[in-house]
Amino acid sequence: MSVDLLRANLARVQERIAAAARRAGRDPDGIILVGVSKTHPPEVVEAAYLAGLRHFGENRVEEAAPKLRAVAEWIRAQKREADPPIWHMIGHVQSRKAEDVVGPYALIHSVDTVKLARRLDRFASAAGRRLPILLEVNVSGEASKYGFSPAEVAAALAEIATLSALEVQGLMTMAPIVPEPEMARPVFRALRALRDDLARRFPQVDLSHLSMGMTDDFEVAIEEGATIVRIGRAIFGERRTA
Ligand SMILES: *Cc1c(COP(=O)(O)O)cnc(C)c1O
Repeated sequence: MSVDLLRANLARVQERIAAAARRAGRDPDGIILVGVSKTHPPEVVEAAYLAGLRHFGENRVEEAAPKLRAVAEWIRAQKREADPPIWHMIGHVQSRKAEDVVGPYALIHSVDTVKLARRLDRFASAAGRRLPILLEVNVSGEASKYGFSPAEVAAALAEIATLSALEVQGLMTMAPIVPEPEMARPVFRALRALRDDLARRFPQVDLSHLSMGMTDDFEVAIEEGATIVRIGRAIFGERRTA
């Protein structure tokens, strides 16, 4: 994909983000756009970087690892180390791969078990870093989705908030695939209500981020309070595989 095409796609998405934010009386600058580059090769990430994108999302630890290495090498060659891409892990992380996400990722959106949180804490602690995370919530209750059920997230948060190498920053969800974006609204509204409730019960925990909204539903998610949207196809076109 050319830098020009990516620049045009990004401008269109940013304009839609801004319009949705205005409708909700929100500041568009308070919304982080994560470009979901899964299935796309390093050259596409590099072109998107040149088009101005800085936040990138990947959902598979193993598929992403060589891509992150290739892009890091390119960044060094470009002498852009002072302004690197910021990587987000947005997909399910198996506990045995916890170690692999601690170094490269700025934010793990998809912490879906206390067991995974404990392992991330252990490896982050060993690496001497504090790892920002979100708790993934399966609001819609679909069996195919990862995440804590809304009923169990408070108990999980009580435990995860004690892990000193993790920094909880909020919640993430995936809406079900529906024919109309409007039909996803109750899921986004429920995640926000859950966050507001947890924020009252855990005043010492930062729950400022709501990662919700993808290509088909991000405007509705922003109207319902999303602070991070994860957008693949509207920026990069159709996925190359899977
Ligand atoms: C693929 C993916 C996205 C982006 O989906 P699009 O419909 O291409 O915008 C967002 N979040 C997660 C967790 C994903 O796996």
